[in-house]
Amino acid sequence: METATLSAQLAAIVGAHHVHAADRLADRDTGFHPENFDAGLAVYPATTGQVAQVVALCARHRIPIVTHGGLTGLSGGAASQTGNVILGLRRMDALLELDPLAGTVVVEAGAILETVERAANEHGLSIGIDLGARGTATIGGMIATNAGGMEAFRNGSMRSRLLGIEAVTPNGAVLNDLTEVPKCNEGYDLKHLFCGAEGTLGIVTRAVLRLTPATAPTTTLLIAVDSAASALTITRACASAPAIDLLQTEIMWRNYATTVAAEIGLSHVLNFCDAPAYLLIELSATDPDAALDTLFTDPAVEAVTLNAVIAKNEKERAEIWRIREESFIVDNTVPHCQWYDISVPLSRIDGTITAIDSRLNALDPTLGIWVMGHLGDGNLHYTIGNGKPQSPERQTAEKRASLAKHSDPEKLRLMRAIKAAFDPDGIMNPGKVL
Ligand SMILES: Cc1cc2nc3c(=O)[nH]c(=O)nc-3n(C[C@H](O)[C@H](O)[C@H](O)COP(=O)(O)OP(=O)(O)OC[C@H]3O[C@@H](n4cnc5c(N)ncnc54)[C@H](O)[C@@H]3O)c2cc1C
Repeated sequence: METATLSAQLAAIVGAHHVHAADRLADRDTGFHPENFDAGLAVYPATTGQVAQVVALCARHRIPIVTHGGLTGLSGGAASQTGNVILGLRRMDALLELDPLAGTVVVEAGAILETVERAANEHGLSIGIDLGARGTATIGGMIATNAGGMEAFRNGSMRSRLLGIEAVTPNGAVLNDLTEVPKCNEGYDLKHLFCGAEGTLGIVTRAVLRLTPATAPTTTLLIAVDSAASALTITRACASAPAIDLLQTEIMWRNYATTVAAEIGLSHVLNFCDAPAYLLIELSATDPDAALDTLFTDPAVEAVTLNAVIAKNEKERAEIWRIREESFIVDNTVPHCQWYDISVPLSRIDGTITAIDSRLNALDPTLGIWVMGHLGDGNLHYTIGNGKPQSPERQTAEKRASLAKHSDPEKLRLMRAIKAAFDPDGIMNPGKVL
């Protein structure tokens, strides 16, 4: 179909103002992938009904659809190409219902994480999931990527927060599975198929999420350690101390911490110790001083702690967190870096770090490696680069190739069968995941 005809038909569904052609998209911030707006045609529906009509129109003409949330995804899942239609959820950002007694919230998929969290906080509750991209990432995008983040070790990833879902399937039908209860055994649990599917099975339009009591931290610590194993020893001691509620346990290796701290003018924060790694612990305790005494007089903790600082005020706390969170500043020192997100069993973190270091070094000794991550669940964020531009398709292609290479053949067969059952014409985010 001619682009002009398609645009006119899309405009008839959502209104001409909400169909953006290439000229309007040219100035848009592309987010974390340069090809996010390459389709040159984007449509912004306001309701599930409009999403369904857009999808039905595209399905009739076999036009591929790429869904856009906040564009904070780091793996190229939202990248598009000429001939695709981008379907953006930014107009569908309402918080529809928050039930403090049940501890649930119903939102539209374009709702921003931080907005939902603030609304929950007003009731002493929390969505129980947090990411550096909190101000931009959408609930739909977080479901589609099964986002983890800083609290996943306590509350699980997005999959664990999800009670119910509404989605538009690739033929333009609306799947209504907005259950609000944890136990719902109506056959196969379809909502979980949308978690981590990166928009390849359909478009999430609404979600019911479970909330958890919000706990404010009383103490923030930066502890110098020699390895992830040492950091885990301290984490375990915190987690098993009855008087301590462990809220955060993040790890940064030296190259990452020193590079980011220098770049944002906070090198003094690390002056207390030059260490192979830094453990950021945040905890809540009714008697914080007693809790710290218990922790640091534990012989196992004493043995692995090289040194530690405690944030004395909110400014110092914020400085520690800035070093952990301003990861993308690495790109200022070495441009064109690539970001990777890997999960490693806890007992194998040190070995994996050493193995990756030596393999990358053998591959190209000019590559810089910056590593930090969520220690509690072994989810590590790798930044790798040597200043040379990389092909934008490389990361997506690498992800697909490694899924095909490392996944169990039967798992792959079932995944392909699921994709074919949902999307026989392959119009939903083609070329992604499988
Ligand atoms: C500073 C920073 C820190 C981060 N930290 C973490 C972290 O700790 N843990 C973590 O897991 N991730 C992290 N991320 C990655 C990112 O924030 C998540 O992947 C996020 O969940 C993506 O949400 P989004 O709305 O930006 O989605 P987008 O980037 O817009 O899209 C991501 C994928 O989801 C699909 N999609 C988007 N919306 C929908 C929808 N409604 N229905 C179906 N498919 C959809 C897209 O097609 C694409 O494939 C971080 C990113 C940044 C920039």
